[in-house]
Amino acid sequence: MPFSTLGLSSSLLKAIAEQKYSTPFPIQKEAIPAILNGKDILGIAQTGSGKTASFVLPILEQFQHQSTPSKNRHVKVLVLVPTRELAIQINNAFNIFGNYFPAKTKCLAVHGGVSINPQMIELQGVEILIATPGRLLELISSKAVSLSAVQVLVLDEADKMLNLGFKEEMTQIFELLPAKRQTLLFSATLSNDINTINKNLLHEPLVIKVDEEITNLDLIEQTAYRIPEERKGPLLRYIIIHNDLEQVLVFTSTVHRADMVADKLNKNGINASSIHSKKSQGTRTAALSLFKAGKIRVLVATDLMARGIDIKFLPCVINYELPRSPKDYVHRIGRTGRAESSGEAISFITPEDEHHFKIIQKKMGKIATFIDGNEIDLNVY
Ligand code: AMP
Repeated sequence: MPFSTLGLSSSLLKAIAEQKYSTPFPIQKEAIPAILNGKDILGIAQTGSGKTASFVLPILEQFQHQSTPSKNRHVKVLVLVPTRELAIQINNAFNIFGNYFPAKTKCLAVHGGVSINPQMIELQGVEILIATPGRLLELISSKAVSLSAVQVLVLDEADKMLNLGFKEEMTQIFELLPAKRQTLLFSATLSNDINTINKNLLHEPLVIKVDEEITNLDLIEQTAYRIPEERKGPLLRYIIIHNDLEQVLVFTSTVHRADMVADKLNKNGINASSIHSKKSQGTRTAALSLFKAGKIRVLVATDLMARGIDIKFLPCVINYELPRSPKDYVHRIGRTGRAESSGEAISFITPEDEHHFKIIQKKMGKIATFIDGNEIDLNVY
């Protein structure tokens, strides 16, 4: 089924073709026509499923057919997201696709970690607002924005918003929204909390479930190196150099370790940067775009960053340290093997990790290929 059958206008079809999207992903096939018909959506889907375009495209399409300008500072679309990175990514998607229409719809991403004043000024004339909950409430209490004219509410990665402790803020925001509106809820999992939001906020939604993880895992080659803690640094350098890796995402469990790993790589002449919650927004955005542009060879990240990072065809992910839950493991390695390209996931397994990694493999239903790191000569690394 091609994109042209989904009810989108020629301007968007041109944009889609230029983005080199040849066929719609499953979630897009279902969500786009339903959203255009005004239906609420409950999408159980991960990053990588194409969920962003599944709501960005029909929202932009609907706006082309609306002639009434909104009252200043009364946004028509509100997209709530858990992280700054995701806010920026979604804003980019609205801008990329929105550019193909003769009449531009002004959109803006607002998030914490940067000064609020420029955001207050920029909110003039904004119709589509992408926001993290905390910053949105600050802007509302400063009267920089009103939600009373919202026609479409999108909750993206709603489960992550709840995990990050945004529940109370979300409830406050929901109370400020008009009752008559379209609501699109996306979540990687269907928890009790998500079900409650569904019951209270959505009206007869179309439920779309995309089991993206399973498809992805088949595309990912998983290797595990048995290695003692103190040899992880040299092993990492060995793998990067020996395998000629040009773009690799490394995961650690703590902010401190992320900085340390990046530091060590740089000292050894491998261009690396770390990205985590303790870094300023500017530094995070810059590191991510340098990495995307191929100007940084290694990006070292903590789990908080695992979901939002949207990079096409990331060839390799390395777990310098294992995550606690099998779910996080899948999210991490899901950064590779996306958009139908295959990828490689490498994990460092210390003797203490063996048991935990067995559980991860069992839960995931896949077995990694083991390599004994002790047999590799790491002296020159
Ligand atoms: P998302 O799940 O929204 O983060 O999207 C995952 C990635 O897939 C992004 O890099 C999108 O640009 C890309 N993408 C989305 N839809 C399509 C499509 N129909 N064909 C090819 N790539 C797509």
